[in-house]
Amino acid sequence: MPSQRLSPELITLPDGWIPALIRGARCRCPRCGEAALFRKWLKPVERCGHCRQDWSLQQADDFPAYIGIFVVGHLLAPVVIAMISGGASAWLTLAIILPIAIILLLVTLQPTKGAVIAFLWWHGIGAFRQERRTQDPPQ
Ligand SMILES: [Zn+2]
Repeated sequence: MPSQRLSPELITLPDGWIPALIRGARCRCPRCGEAALFRKWLKPVERCGHCRQDWSLQQADDFPAYIGIFVVGHLLAPVVIAMISGGASAWLTLAIILPIAIILLLVTLQPTKGAVIAFLWWHGIGAFRQERRTQDPPQ
């Protein structure tokens, strides 16, 4: 297998940052959409198995977790308020909400990380080099 990336003419680059984000959220390579982006739960592959894009350059760090906490917190806050104002005890509310919050965070963390990596790649943030289809103007 070649170690160099396939040139943009040989793969289908996404049309914009939203299609790139969707590819990443589906845990596929944002550049080509063909191969898996992760080799373990939150560990990206070193290089794409199809287009050879180097994903070891990604620096998503804790940002996917912050996004997950922000979204899950806003989804569950109205439920907590409704339960408490409906007369449920704090312990009952905690016993119901905490497992739901943990499950939601665990389920959404990998797609969120894929989307963040795709966003960083598309915009050329960090060590990524921005690339577009040759016929398309930069967005
Ligand atoms: Zn790829």
